[in-house]
Amino acid sequence: MNELVLALHGIAKSYNKGLPGEVEVLRDIGLNVAKGEVVALVAPSGAGKSTLLHIAGLLDTPDAGAVRIAGEEMSGLSDARRTAVRRSDVGFIYQFHHLLPEFTAEENIVLPQLANGIARSTAHARARDLLGKVGIAPRAGHRPAALSGGEQQRVAFCRALANAPKLLLADEPTGNLDPATSDQVFGVLLDLVRATGLSAVIATHNLELAARMDRQIRLDAGRLISS
Ligand code: ADP
Repeated sequence: MNELVLALHGIAKSYNKGLPGEVEVLRDIGLNVAKGEVVALVAPSGAGKSTLLHIAGLLDTPDAGAVRIAGEEMSGLSDARRTAVRRSDVGFIYQFHHLLPEFTAEENIVLPQLANGIARSTAHARARDLLGKVGIAPRAGHRPAALSGGEQQRVAFCRALANAPKLLLADEPTGNLDPATSDQVFGVLLDLVRATGLSAVIATHNLELAARMDRQIRLDAGRLISS
């Protein structure tokens, strides 16, 4: 059997539970993502994409259900172990790049590696290699403010892959860019993911981008539907 990198079972999540403003966002979500599989999560704004990705990426906890990453059940783990798994096994990309403005592109990719115990020289070499793979090696010494929106997102891709995670989670990773740049930068991301054999769940409401992934799943009234 193919190794499962992400397995969600019976995931439920509500906000403001028991209060008049309770919002039931996720109901009984089950999802298996195999090694090397790239899954598109398609749903309109407000459907719960971010909530689902945050739970899968250990940035939030579900009210019920199980999250397994690379075969390891996450719910019983200490905060320290969850943080360690998140740091080494999961890469996250947001719609906005969230790069640290006072550091260069290269340093932004080095920092998470240092936090993960990688030696400085190795971390710099890996950062430069990743910047080359996304086609912006000459921009390594630039701070985010001196980069275009598409370049900033490419750096954010490299940062997410800095610690060679097993699972990449991306929340509308090119949603902030104009359509032409979005298309191009999305291609860069897919090439990078395919080249590394990474498993990924990528949220988008762009159906053309979704069609370029292995399969699509949708969120409808809190439930996950394969399509
Ligand atoms: P998407 O990423 O698909 O736009 P979200 O996961 O951000 O959707 O949000 C799903 C629903 O949950 C929305 O109705 C949103 O208003 C609500 N929601 C998200 N976060 C919170 C929160 N911290 N408190 C209350 N409601 C929230």
